[in-house]
Amino acid sequence: MTALASRSFEIANQIIAPGKRKQIEIHIGRLFDYTEISIPIEVIRGEQAGPVLFVSGAIHGDEINGVEAIKRLLTQRRIGSRMRGTLIAAPIVNVFGFNNNSRYLPDRRDLNRCFPGSKNGSLGGRIAHIVMEEIVSKATHGIDLHTGAIHRTNLPQIRACLDEPETNKLAHAFGVPVAINATIRDGSLRQSAAERGIPMLLFEGGEALRYEEKIIHSALRGILSVMESIGMLEPRLSKKKVQKRKHIFIARSSYWIRAPHSGSLRVKKHCGDRVQKGDLLGILSDPYGTNRVEIQTPKTGIIVGMTLLPLVNNGDALFHVATFDDAEAVEERLGIFDESISV
Ligand SMILES: [Zn+2]
Repeated sequence: MTALASRSFEIANQIIAPGKRKQIEIHIGRLFDYTEISIPIEVIRGEQAGPVLFVSGAIHGDEINGVEAIKRLLTQRRIGSRMRGTLIAAPIVNVFGFNNNSRYLPDRRDLNRCFPGSKNGSLGGRIAHIVMEEIVSKATHGIDLHTGAIHRTNLPQIRACLDEPETNKLAHAFGVPVAINATIRDGSLRQSAAERGIPMLLFEGGEALRYEEKIIHSALRGILSVMESIGMLEPRLSKKKVQKRKHIFIARSSYWIRAPHSGSLRVKKHCGDRVQKGDLLGILSDPYGTNRVEIQTPKTGIIVGMTLLPLVNNGDALFHVATFDDAEAVEERLGIFDESISV
């Protein structure tokens, strides 16, 4: 059946007809000098009815790999009137942080702890409220793109509530090898979407303030394959090939290894490496190269995140290791994945 998407679709008082696309500025406030601040979004409607997917980036304003991934998504030939359903693309949610190379809002709040927000709340609360009302509540599915925090990098990974069947399906469709069944963070977009019954993935990959081709490519490919899996786009690969490519490993648990001492760190392992109990991860030492402290792996797993800053204080988080039933199989799959996205 080729049902036409006749329902009118409205965002920020703008109506977008089936088969049309529109760039919209959602007004969220003004700077001290009265300069108007808006969240830029683009809405693309297929001629046929279908799901409504929102894809958001830079909720943390310095996490910009996702901004570039969404930009590239919008210029794909497949994204247009022949699509089924509607895509809401919000490449830069925290426009304040984005313009200041900062994770935070001007009042130093983390926007991803302000959800669902309120109409009369703080700046973060008001922005969160607008995002919920104008974007999230109009969607049936969502993908939110992140990177590691400043001076940290993450292996491309999905964090989601994988016990929820629809979200689990989306995670498999996204197709990055590693997924972490993440507990929901209070005040996050993900929590508010879950409370409204909207299945949502959080993609993490790479570092803040960088454009990293492999990460951008992983995110873009993941979004397109989610769109295929929910029927917005025609699948490009055969089912068999998709299954082979999409195999994901869900972490049993994950843990951080912290610096047992202040000093400078020489790393010996990197994101995606399989590390076995007792393996040397790095060496901490003083400026003379003496007082060396070896950092060893306490429990076998895969490095899914790590610091990029060699100067560390006692207690700083150094390596994030996820544990799996079969870490060797994960490492092998990561190798295949890495080759498949080589740029
Ligand atoms: Zn983030």
